[in-house]
Amino acid sequence: MKAACVRCSAPPSAVLSYAYDVREAWLVDFAGERIDGTGYPLCVTHADRITPPLGWVLHDRRVPEPSFRDVA
Ligand SMILES: [Zn+2]
Repeated sequence: MKAACVRCSAPPSAVLSYAYDVREAWLVDFAGERIDGTGYPLCVTHADRITPPLGWVLHDRRVPEPSFRDVA
């Protein structure tokens, strides 16, 4: 099955994972493959809007897209 954002079914750009025991969440870049275990695919819009539950820590491990300024 092809991965899609769990919120809007758009192509995913990130994967959200949870560790319930330590109340932490991670956002990583979507690698374009199957998502192992407990990851939730998200499009860039929903990944940017994600807010962790109260008392949780969110680690954004996504690699920033290079901007046009960096290319020049
Ligand atoms: Zn989405």
